[in-house]
Order: sequence, then structure tokens, then C-alpha cells
Amino acid sequence: MHIKKQRLLTAGPTPLLPQALRAMMGSDIYHRTEDFRALYREVLSGLREVFGTANEVLCLVASGTGGLEAAVSNFFRAGDEVIVCSAGKFGERWVDLARAFGLSPIVLEAPYGEVVSPERVGDALKQHPDARGVFIQASETSTGAEFDVRAIAGLVRATPAILVVDAITGLGTMPLDIDGWGLDVVVGGSQKAFMIPPGLAFVSVSEKAWQHAAAANLPRLYFDLTRERKSAAAGESTWTASTSLILALAEALRYIRAMGMDKLVANAQSLAAATRTAAKALDLELFAPACPASAVTAIRAPKGMDSSAIVRDFREQFGSIIANGQGAMKGKIFRIAHLGYFDFSDLFAVIAQLEVILASRGVSVELGAGVAAIQRAVLNARVASVTK
Ligand SMILES: *Cc1c(COP(=O)(O)O)cnc(C)c1O
Repeated sequence: MHIKKQRLLTAGPTPLLPQALRAMMGSDIYHRTEDFRALYREVLSGLREVFGTANEVLCLVASGTGGLEAAVSNFFRAGDEVIVCSAGKFGERWVDLARAFGLSPIVLEAPYGEVVSPERVGDALKQHPDARGVFIQASETSTGAEFDVRAIAGLVRATPAILVVDAITGLGTMPLDIDGWGLDVVVGGSQKAFMIPPGLAFVSVSEKAWQHAAAANLPRLYFDLTRERKSAAAGESTWTASTSLILALAEALRYIRAMGMDKLVANAQSLAAATRTAAKALDLELFAPACPASAVTAIRAPKGMDSSAIVRDFREQFGSIIANGQGAMKGKIFRIAHLGYFDFSDLFAVIAQLEVILASRGVSVELGAGVAAIQRAVLNARVASVTK
């Protein structure tokens, strides 16, 4: 096999929307002009529409973690008690951020592959009635697990605490009713379901969270959301906008709005469900079987096998870039992404490649069994839509 097209199949960065990629070439523009303000306003209102909220959605020049940092530094006071749910690398990032900014985190941990239950959050809120915030992931990308955001929100709502959601891979892969459920701060990132390169973080802020912001006293400058809110009202970003990424985002948001955010979610959900069926057909074990996310499916390497070898084979044999486990999960799992610009043709390729890789490494798999499972899922959906 002499030609191997490089295919980016990771959970972030994700495959780019072609028209968004092309739009980036028009970035020889100045950001303090009426033309750019019109574009920036379109992007901010488009973000609000795809987030599905009447809350303000602000745009920051940073990778997703910049949005997480802003969510910590803008709404709290030094020493504030906060409840942090941690069940993976990104939960651990919340803990690190809370400590870095001098908060007092009460950490609710769950093993990798599981999530922190709403009951545990409810108990912690009772034990710590002064807690000012609750931090969760919507989708924990490192383990492929999905939190029960709605149930947790229902518990936080009645307390003085704000709910801060890292939804960086939750947005566009699961229903998130920001206003209906009461999600106070929701963070997104450009390189996930938004189909554009890394470099922008999005933060939605509820009225309750703005009240917290008014009393907050932690150091911040670049990520000052109150200041960013004022700039946004004038159709601008506080600092120099990432013009290339804003051009790309405008195209991606047009695409997502035309399709409907619910369809983007359904797309990820059906790819994830089909992937789980394929894993089962190949006798592979899911890493988060009880609470599987639709952003990414984490699969355990077969017994005695290092998942790094699978990831390497994908790259070397087929040019496909898929994700290994992170941290302690490295070598144990590999992750197949579904968020953003992924379709069933991508999935057919991934599963067909996986079958060859496993067979070539002596794992007993029936070639085609995983692919056939996906074909059946596609066929059933097709029949159901035709006979509807
Ligand atoms: C990708 C991701 C982030 C952000 O990581 P960056 O490298 O800063 O973009 C945060 N949380 C989750 C759950 C993610 O998947």
C-alpha cells in the first residue's frame, strides 16, 4: 500500500469542514472594521443559537483550557469552597485549576470509565451548603464517559452554587438544555464538534453566574469575562481577534445551523451506537460501558495487547490518526471519535482497518463482523426512515 491518505480521526482536533478551512485564507483583514464587527456579531449570535441559550456566549482566543481557566478565575473568591467531580484527565484539570487559583476544592472522584453520580453531588451539596460552585465534565473525553448533566443541574439549581460544565466534547454530541436545566457556565472549544482548528474557547454565562462574577476577586486580565462581555456588546473582542478562526467559525456555524444542532447531536449518537455494536461483534470491551459518551468511544485493547501498537498500526498501515489513552490509560485503550464532521464512511474505514490490525496481530476476529454490524445499523435506520 503505497498511498496512505492521512486521516485525522481523533476527538480533537477533529476533521475540518472544507468550507471552513477555505475561509481561513481570507484572513488578511483588520479586526477593528465594520465588516469584521458584522462577522463577529454573526458568530456570537450563531454560537448562542447552537448552544441553544439566551445567555451570553463569549469567545476567547485560547484552546479549551483557556475557557476552563476563565470559568474558574471569573466567578469565585479566594478560598471559596467548590465541589469538583473528577473521573478522568479532564476532571483532574478542574482540580488543578481550582487549586492554582486558590479555591478550596472538595473532590468527588470516580474510577476512570465511570462517572460521579448525581446522588454523590447531592450529598456533597448537603454537607457543604456554602459551596459556591460545582464543576463537572459533560463528556469526559479521556475515558469516553458521559455525565448525567441534567440530574446534577437539578440539584445545584436550588443552592447558591453555580454549575460549571466543561462541555468541550459535550456540545454537539449530547442534549444540553442550558436554560431549561440551569447550566450556569458552559465551556466549548473550537477543535471539537465545531469542525475548525484549535484556538478558540467559548463560554456561556447565566445571570446567576454574572452575579457571582460581580463578587469575584481572583486575579485575571486576559480572560476577564466582564470586560469581554462589554467588547462583545460592541461587536468586538477585547484583544486582537483570531481573524482566521473567526472566518472559519462563521462557515462552520452556518453549516451547523442549516443542519440543526439536534441533527449534529443525533449524528454523533448514531455513530457512537454503531461503534458499540461493532465492538461487541468483535468481542472488544468498552472502557465506559455503563455511561458511554457519544463524543468518543473508548475501547480496551484485547488482553495482553498494548493499545499503542494498535494506534501505531492505524497510522503506519493506513495513515489513520486515532487516539491512544491518556495518562494511566495509555497503552490500555484506544478511542474512536464521533464528534463534529464524522460520517459513516469514516466509521466503516476505522472498523475495517481495526479488524485487519487485530487479525494481523494474531487476535482471533472474524473479518467483516464489525463492519457488518455497522452495515446492519445503517440498513435498519434506512428501512425505518423509508417505512415511516
Ligand atoms: C479537548 C478538551 C479540553 C480542552 O483541551 P485543550 O487542549 O485546552 O483544548 C477540555 N476538556 C475536555 C473534556 C476536552 O475534551
